[in-house]
Amino acid sequence: MAYEAVIGLEVHAQLLTESKIFCSCSTQFGASPNTHVCPICLGMPGVLPVLNKRVVEFAMKMALATNCQINPYSVFARKNYFYPDLPKGYQISQYEHPLAEYGWVEIEVNGQKKRIGITRIHMEEDAGKLIHDPHKPVSYVDFNRTGVPLIEIVSEPDIRSPEEAVAYLKKLRSILRYLEICDGNMEEGSFRCDANISLRPVGSEAFGVKTELKNMNSFKHVQRALAYEIERQKAILEEGGSIIQETRLWDEAKGVTRSMRGKEEAHDYRYFPDPDLVPVVVDEAWIEAVRNTLPELPDEKKERFIKEYNLPSYDAEVLTTSRELADYFESVVKACANPKMVSNWIMSELLGKLNQEKKEIGECPITPEQLGELLALIEKGTISGKIAKTVFEEMYATGKSPAQIVKEKGLVQITDEATLRKIAEKIIREHPKEVEQYRAGKEKLLGFFVGQMMKETKGKANPQLANKIFKELLCVTEN
Ligand code: ADP
Ligand code: ZN
Ligand code: MG
Repeated sequence: MAYEAVIGLEVHAQLLTESKIFCSCSTQFGASPNTHVCPICLGMPGVLPVLNKRVVEFAMKMALATNCQINPYSVFARKNYFYPDLPKGYQISQYEHPLAEYGWVEIEVNGQKKRIGITRIHMEEDAGKLIHDPHKPVSYVDFNRTGVPLIEIVSEPDIRSPEEAVAYLKKLRSILRYLEICDGNMEEGSFRCDANISLRPVGSEAFGVKTELKNMNSFKHVQRALAYEIERQKAILEEGGSIIQETRLWDEAKGVTRSMRGKEEAHDYRYFPDPDLVPVVVDEAWIEAVRNTLPELPDEKKERFIKEYNLPSYDAEVLTTSRELADYFESVVKACANPKMVSNWIMSELLGKLNQEKKEIGECPITPEQLGELLALIEKGTISGKIAKTVFEEMYATGKSPAQIVKEKGLVQITDEATLRKIAEKIIREHPKEVEQYRAGKEKLLGFFVGQMMKETKGKANPQLANKIFKELLCVTEN
């Protein structure tokens, strides 16, 4: 039987506020353990939480950017469970009345556009972090992260493949970064994902029993974990077995998911409204004020790039994955008004180099003005595209301007026809056999002659001119 995967994702995004959600402790990552703590986030008896208004604003930004409805009235609830990283014995979250619901984002996989529904977005606090010492039989707990604000974004079970899941996650992360409300760092855990997955026979409406996958800290892990889980569930179903509803951990080293625990039910948590916090009331005016702060979002920017710069959809998608990259592209275009050429250079040379060095566009040693200047040199015919690649490498390594490098290294393109003609005549004299073959109809050999010219001039000959000269010289029959 053919099966279809049904996937729904729960994403936790750490918000980039300066202070925690219910106290004034810093949210700074990487501080010494237990230095960013106070009686409130340590859950001392008798203390009272006070909501950080910025958290609500940030959550509203994401809600609006993902087409959600914002509820005028939402409520914080206690989610009760014991774990050593949770000093109060409960997490403050939202349950029955979340901040926002009924949203969607658009993804594109293999050229197919599709909407993924967002069930809800709610605010909650993060827990602390356990550190297990591999050399001693002890564990430590760091409460710096306790009370750091999170939003949880729950999707509808609309996703049908690991590829769609990754596209959806990338879209969410891109939006969060455009909004500058989350750094999206999966390795540091500021963007985390739990994946729910079940199978059903193709054509059937009803959902199957799902498992929940945790512990995936890169897009690649999400993709591999889901692909593995599809095969695992398929094998069980094909043998006539049934799937157990449970939480499973992805083991990247072994490439398998392993059972962690039976899935808890909502009623296990004894949710109830937190009596220490008043309901969150959001009026239209506040919503409009937040809406007015939204930047141009990835989808809009992509559409604009396609229209304004006449770029293929693929280019526009790549260039708008981050705001920094999109801004970089637009700055280069100011110096070199050939957008497709700019896009090609950014996507292949620049991103290739940055990926190699595991750098972000913000760390690029070449400024957009410098890249624009380089491409303008190609456009003007001062240097060839091939030489430009050498100059590019040099710019990347030294941060020097292209004009300076071209001058220092004597890389200016030879566009003087008389000079090139002389070299061409010499090449023709030295290769009588190829000349004869060319004249006998083997026109492919033109490339050979131009190649020789490039060798002679160390790549500096203008290729169009070299082509033209050889064509002229070679069609003259000797007599
Ligand atoms: P639970 O109560 O088990 O946490 P929820 O209804 O809250 O389940 O859904 C959690 C996530 O699981 C959501 O993203 C939802 O889309 C997804 N989901 C729900 N049912 C299924 C299913 N049968 N198969 C795959 N994903 C599912
Ligand atoms: Zn605190
Ligand atoms: Mg749930």
